[in-house]
Amino acid sequence: MVGRPFLTAVAVGTGTMVALGGSTIVVSGVGIAVAKRIARAKKLKTASPCRQCAGEGYLPCDVCLRTCVVRCRAPRSMREIMLEARNAEKLGKGRKVVGRGEEDRGPGASRSASTSASPPVYCSCPACGTSGFQRCVNCLGDGRV
Ligand SMILES: [Zn+2]
Ligand SMILES: [Zn+2]
Repeated sequence: MVGRPFLTAVAVGTGTMVALGGSTIVVSGVGIAVAKRIARAKKLKTASPCRQCAGEGYLPCDVCLRTCVVRCRAPRSMREIMLEARNAEKLGKGRKVVGRGEEDRGPGASRSASTSASPPVYCSCPACGTSGFQRCVNCLGDGRV
């Protein structure tokens, strides 16, 4: 590089520019983060406690009522679903011949029979992720608004 001062100068110049560009990005990123933090601190200083969660930021899960489990449908195999679909198709074809009054009573009766036959299945609550608490939607977990 000794014999080519021009190229060296260009290389150094480019390096400096890249470094400057990088630092600008970093500085602006930090600046935004700091500004956000200041804005949040200011907001929290003047904010009043959230009335919905009483300043806690979290509310007891109203989906599982803090039991962390909810009743859900029993897992079914693909074959079962296919069979049921085929049966429904058959029933639908037959029902066209039958009067409309009977059609209304049909599905409700069969549904209640199928739910009573299957044992209750419980799964983890999807709303709170088995923590029993949900983040307050009013204050987004800050406890203040
Ligand atoms: Zn829950
Ligand atoms: Zn709240």
